[in-house]
Formats: sequence, structure tokens, C-alpha cells
Amino acid sequence: MQSCESSGDSADDPLSRGLRRRGQPRVVVIGAGLAGLAAAKALLEQGFTDVTVLEASSRIGGRVQSVKLGHATFELGATWIHGSHGNPIYHLAEANGLLEETTDGERSVGRISLYSKNGVACYLTNRGCRIPKDVVEEFSDLYNEVYNLTQEFFRHGKPVNAESQNSVGVFTREEVRNRIRDDPDDPEATKRLKLAMIQQYLKVESCESSSHSMDEVSLSAFGEWTEIPGAHHVIPSGFMRVVELLAEGIPAHVIQLGKPVRCVHWDQASSRPRGPEIEPRDEGDHNHDAGEGSQGGEEPREERQDEDEQWPVVVECEDCEVIPADHVIVTVSLGVLKRQHASFFQPGLPAEKVAAIHRLGIGTTDKIFLEFEEPFWGPECNSLRFVWEDEAESCTLTYPPELWYRKICGFDVLYPPERYGHVLSGWICGEEALVMEKCDDEAVAEICTEMLRQFTGNPNIPKPRRILRSAWGSNPYFRGSYSYTQVGSSGADVEKLAKPLPYTESSKTAPMQVLFSGEATHRKYYSTTHGALLSGQREAARLIEMYRDLFQQGT
Ligand SMILES: Cc1cc2nc3c(=O)[nH]c(=O)nc-3n(C[C@H](O)[C@H](O)[C@H](O)COP(=O)(O)OP(=O)(O)OC[C@H]3O[C@@H](n4cnc5c(N)ncnc54)[C@H](O)[C@@H]3O)c2cc1C
Repeated sequence: MQSCESSGDSADDPLSRGLRRRGQPRVVVIGAGLAGLAAAKALLEQGFTDVTVLEASSRIGGRVQSVKLGHATFELGATWIHGSHGNPIYHLAEANGLLEETTDGERSVGRISLYSKNGVACYLTNRGCRIPKDVVEEFSDLYNEVYNLTQEFFRHGKPVNAESQNSVGVFTREEVRNRIRDDPDDPEATKRLKLAMIQQYLKVESCESSSHSMDEVSLSAFGEWTEIPGAHHVIPSGFMRVVELLAEGIPAHVIQLGKPVRCVHWDQASSRPRGPEIEPRDEGDHNHDAGEGSQGGEEPREERQDEDEQWPVVVECEDCEVIPADHVIVTVSLGVLKRQHASFFQPGLPAEKVAAIHRLGIGTTDKIFLEFEEPFWGPECNSLRFVWEDEAESCTLTYPPELWYRKICGFDVLYPPERYGHVLSGWICGEEALVMEKCDDEAVAEICTEMLRQFTGNPNIPKPRRILRSAWGSNPYFRGSYSYTQVGSSGADVEKLAKPLPYTESSKTAPMQVLFSGEATHRKYYSTTHGALLSGQREAARLIEMYRDLFQQGT
């Protein structure tokens, strides 16, 4: 795009009228996570010059957050590049030398580094016993068989039985239980151990899905998520390096940090003859989260020269600044949309989009890193998994608040120790993760140590010397970790979430004003970094396409 002046010959549609007056479309991107940065970068690369990214917190990266402790870097958010061939994050990381050297053999194992390749998972019971390896292997094979069945409902359009309630958790628990009970070879004691292991496996899977429980994940839509082939890689220097690479091409003035948006006023041109007249809200207005970085209380900025023009969208910030724009790309998480959509958009979102926001799911998955002076686990052990024997007959993964720690499914040993030190990485999800977030570090470290002592049967395990953990659920700018297809939702809801506003057949007669990106808007790759990045590029491409003719006429 060389010049953005539109010629007098251009069609007299709303798009060209606006451009004739201002020369460049103004695009505001809300959020500087991967989706927002990818959108801004793509627009800038195509010659858009009036692009602003508003980020609520004091840093870029969103749900990518690498924290340096000593020599090591720990990921509070995204860790793995899921799949390689065709994964834009993988290609970016590889092109910039961020990945470790790996052999073909290592790649074929799947996960590169972070967890020991040769070690085994130690399944431990709350009575301090290790479950024999052959029992673990038999159970694992059985569970994986049933897991593969869960994929078939979507892939082959299999009807879902009434008793499974269209839920991955209900189906899996029942199916695995029946197979264990029907096995004529297993003694009763082994059957009970295997029955108890079901809950542990379902906890791990809930953490991976970021749902409260797999009972809430839709069976018929479970196969929507598409795996990119290839190994799963980590970035030893930190996932934030990918974010930094994306941000490299974006001039510093484009990104405004500590700039939470309060409301997107859209459809302005049709509802107002002139620019917006938004009253700054007084401090007594508690309809909105005043989270970190909020600067509130400032007067609205001075009227711009072009304020008397008809701007289709006006972005109102928490600090009361109002920024008129032609287009806004919203990248905030599904959790933020669930909590705030009613006050975040004026006029409110169409009923169809609101219903999609309600139906789709997002839960909290948190990590707990514990650093020990010395390893108390053997070199052969790559994880400690907690199996509660009294949960063999449980039909739920919900615990009273005081038993929140029962949702911790186990701890992985970070590998190699030369890079990470002696560090265990634990996972917890759902409502219990939110309870954990409210506890202080000392209390969490204490409870984790008690659990490790109980399950290993070693009362001498010392307390960790350091603890680091995430808190994605209570953070007002995330309200959860990543999205999933909840029971009652489908991939069609993801499409509805992604649909730009206003709803119209032609972007010429009624140009897109509010566009939606972010991981939850990617039908195949939701919940991932590559899904987020691609969704940002997708929305930028809509705008680039929309202006293509006009820009060409102006050259
Ligand atoms: C614990 C955890 C583990 C994960 N593991 C992996 C993994 O291994 N591999 C993988 O590929 N993915 C993983 N993910 C998912 C991945 O991190 C996300 O899918 C991706 O980073 C989301 O990017 P996004 O741009 O869509 O959203 P975000 O990163 O959430 O960006 C949105 C931005 O909007 C900002 N914002 C919110 N409200 C406002 C407002 N009112 N005004 C202005 N700005 C606002 C937020 O601060 C945020 O920076 C993980 C996520 C978590 C939390």
C-alpha cells in the first residue's frame, strides 16, 4: 500500500468517504498478547500507519509470561509449541534459532526437553505406595483406547448416548469403569487401584483442557481441536522470545501499556450525527474492574482536530481518554468477554454472539513451581502423580474449598537439572485453582510439601526453598487460562464469536467496525499460541482485503 489518499473517482461508499477525509484508516487493537501483536504487525507491514495497540497490563505477551529465576526461565503461561510443520510459532522460533538442537530420535519421542525423556511417571497413592509399573501400563493402554473413542464422535458424527450427557468426562469415566469391572483377570485390589487412577487421569486432562472438569467438555465437539503434526518443543530462553520477535517490527509508540479499555462504542456513525460525547465516569462507578495499570480519574483528552467527523467506533479507556477509530480489533480473552461483554460494548453485542460467549467454555489451569535444595526423587522418575484411593467410586471432580489441594494431579520433574535446578512443576485446574490463587505462597508451599510427604511415604522431605505460581483465573485481564468447547457448544459458536460487527452481507455498504480475534476465536487451534497468532493475522487480513481496492485506486 503506497498511498492512502483515495481518488475522487472512488466509489462513494462509507469506506472511501472516510478515507478521503482522513487518508488512513485508524485501527485500534485491544490487547498486546499474541493475537493483538500479530494483527498490528500484519497491518503495519501492509502499510497501515494509523494503528494503536491498547494493553491493560504493564507488559506485552498476555498469556505468554516467562519468568527468570536465577539462571532458569519458567513459563507461567504457554510452554509448548504444539506441533511443528505448519505451526507459525514453530517456524518463527526455528528461523530465529530459539529451539534446541534435536535428533530425529528425540523428535520422534514427541516432547523435546523439559521433562526427562528416559524417566518414568511414578504413580503414588495417598497411602504412600507406588502403583506397580505393569498396572500403570495396563491402565494407560485402556484409558488411551477410550480416549481415542472420544475423538470419534466428532470425526465420524457418531450419535452421543443419552447416558454420556454429551460429556467427555461422563463418557470416559463410565466406559473405562465398565471395562475395568468386566476384566475377569484382575484381582479386586488391582481393580480398585485402576478405578482410582481414572480420576487422576481425568484431572490431568482437565488441566490440559483448562476446564473445571472433563464432565464439562463436549463429547460431540471434542474432535474440533486439531493437532499439528510433529514434536512439541519448548523454548529454553523463554516463550517470551517469540512475543519479542513479533513485537520487534512494531514501533514503540504504537503500543500503549497500562491502558485498560472500558468500553467500545460502535455503530457511532449511524447513531450519532457527530463525534462521540462520552461522559467520563466518576470514581463511584464500580461496574468495571479497575485492575492493574488502571490510571482512572483523568480528564478526557482534548478534542482532536478531526473530532467533528463521523467515526464509526469510539474506544473509551479506563483513564477516560476516548479514541475514535474506523476499526477496532478486540483480542481480550473469552473469560474477560464472559465477565464484561455487557458493559464492554455499547450498543450491546447481538444476541447470537452473546449466546456463543455463554456456551463456549474457559476455565483456569495454574502451575505451581517448587524449587528444592536437593532432589528427593530418583533419577529415573520424571513425575510424581497423585492417586487418591478413596476416589475409586467418585463421580465428580469437585471438592469443598478446604480440600482444594486434591485437584493437584501431580508434579513433573523439570529437565535438565543443569538448566532448571531441582524444580517440580505442579498442575491444578478449575474452581480449586481459584481457591489456591487466594492462598499465600507459604500456605501453598506447606500443603504441597505435605502432599509430597504423604504420597512418597517420605516424612523427611524438606520444604521447597522457593515457590512460583500463576494466577490466571483471578487476574481481571484474563479470567481464565484458555478456552474449550463446553457441553452445549460447538465449533459453530467459535465462528459466531469471530464474526465482525456489524453483521452485514457487504463490508462496502457497512464496513466492519469491531473485529474479534484471540485464541478462543480459532475453530481448529483454540487454546494455543498458534491459534492466537493466526486469529490476529486473520482479522488483519479482513481489513487489508477491505481496503485493497481503495488503496490501489489511490496509488
Ligand atoms: C497456564 C497456561 C498454559 C498454556 N500452555 C500453552 C502451551 O503449552 N502451548 C500453547 O500453544 N498455548 C498454551 N497456552 C495458551 C496460550 O498462552 C494462549 O492461547 C495465547 O497466549 C492467547 O493469546 P491471545 O492473544 O489470544 O490472548 P491474551 O494473551 O490473553 O491477550 C489478550 C490481552 O488483552 C489484554 N486485555 C484484557 N482486557 C483488556 C482491556 N480491558 N483493555 C486492554 N487490554 C486488555 C490482556 O492483558 C492481554 O494482554 C497456555 C495458557 C496458559 C494460561
